[in-house]
Amino acid sequence: MITRRRFIKQAGMTGAGLLLTASLPARLTAAFSKTVICIGAGLAGLAAAYKLKQAGYKVTVLESRNRVGGRVFSHPVANGLVIELGGEWVGNSHTRMQELCSGFGLELLNNQLDTHLIYKGNYSPAGKWDYSEPWKKKWNELIAGYGQLSDADKQQLDQYDWWRYLVNNGCEGRDLEIRELLDSTDFGESIRHVSAFAALAEYAESSEKNEMDLKIKGGNQMLAEKLADAIGRENILLQHTVTKIDQKEKVTVSCSNGKTFSADKIICTVPTFALSKIQWLPGLPPEKTAAINELQYARINKHAVVFKERFWKEEAFDLISDEMPQYFYHATKGQPGAEGVLISYTIGDKAAVMANGTNAVNASAIAQTLAPCFGNIQPLIRQQVNYYWGTDAISQGAYALFGVNQWFRLRPVLAEPFLHTHFAGEHLADWQGFIEGAVNTGEVAARQII
Ligand SMILES: Cc1cc2nc3c(=O)[nH]c(=O)nc-3n(C[C@H](O)[C@H](O)[C@H](O)COP(=O)(O)OP(=O)(O)OC[C@H]3O[C@@H](n4cnc5c(N)ncnc54)[C@H](O)[C@@H]3O)c2cc1C
Repeated sequence: MITRRRFIKQAGMTGAGLLLTASLPARLTAAFSKTVICIGAGLAGLAAAYKLKQAGYKVTVLESRNRVGGRVFSHPVANGLVIELGGEWVGNSHTRMQELCSGFGLELLNNQLDTHLIYKGNYSPAGKWDYSEPWKKKWNELIAGYGQLSDADKQQLDQYDWWRYLVNNGCEGRDLEIRELLDSTDFGESIRHVSAFAALAEYAESSEKNEMDLKIKGGNQMLAEKLADAIGRENILLQHTVTKIDQKEKVTVSCSNGKTFSADKIICTVPTFALSKIQWLPGLPPEKTAAINELQYARINKHAVVFKERFWKEEAFDLISDEMPQYFYHATKGQPGAEGVLISYTIGDKAAVMANGTNAVNASAIAQTLAPCFGNIQPLIRQQVNYYWGTDAISQGAYALFGVNQWFRLRPVLAEPFLHTHFAGEHLADWQGFIEGAVNTGEVAARQII
């Protein structure tokens, strides 16, 4: 039976076996003569390099950006406050992330939020709004029924979109509009573009708060920095953009700065847009190239507003609205101080509009949306920071968006090793779209080599 999460358990078991094998002296001797290049210093690349380093391999990490972390991107704002411009929440089910944090002495703060609602101009505080009783009952049945689905049922679910699935199961009116707002926020594009299997699996297999549970104290990028220290900074070359991978005889990797590197194996962790820019010799199999060219990534914009005071009062504040600024959350929860940050989080077409808006236009839209709950908050704005992932030069999106008939068809093709190259990254993970997934795939790729 295919489940999204079963892969992790199997991979974990395989890994344990391989680690035992790798600890044999003969195996270790072999390992010391091996060299591996990891392309990308996001969490997949760093997790892979760390595992290989621990097993005695010589590892070089080549990274395009001028920092480690990739789509985990912590950003300091006023007075010691740190916000996340990329990956934000670590889930209660994300056990490997929790293990790594604990191993590196990083504290995980509670980052759970309680959702307020603005719908048709009316404000309802958290706990004072809900779905209709019939839909709640139906939803619970659908989630409970997920465990009984056969592989064929799951493949069938992948043939249509999540909005259609909700409608076909009797979700309508206000229930449908609110689910559409919330679920589209999760996937980063309208749920009319999301595989019904990917969505049902996500909601059936996630923690109660949908893995929006924790966050690393001081910023999620701290984990990337700790991993980089453990790998050895001298083994991580920033501003090295890989442009060519030659596996015809020896394995040679060329960068845009003219440098070339040789290795026995490669782990390539870059998102598919970046992958499409690399020249492969020999060329990638046509099926893989087609999958790379087909997969889309979600457009997400984060517009962070530093306010002089935390007028929202509740530390666990977040809010969904049916207006242009669609979702807000307290981005400095658990960080002491008078000032605080609300992030206005938009997805899809709304993200593209916010991304191109000036600070003045966005501040005005945000203030207008929040006015029914808090009055005029515009004079409290101290600073604004915007990051739009839709036009990020490297990823062209926040995370992979598996549409209709893509989950079972594209992922295995994208994950297939090619000659001496193994692939990793969030787009290949069972915990797809999550930092945990990136780490899992990086570690699996490393184990395939060890
Ligand atoms: C806005 C947003 C919100 C998110 N929210 C959450 C969340 O709440 N919880 C959660 O768990 N996850 C979240 N995620 C997803 C999470 O951040 C990603 O799944 C994860 O960080 C991806 O890691 P990765 O290593 O697969 O890819 P990346 O982090 O993208 O790493 C790949 C690296 O490869 C580098 N690279 C690309 N091309 C080349 C090249 N040619 N040569 C050299 N280097 C190259 C890139 O610069 C990058 O550093 C979010 C992401 C975004 C953007």
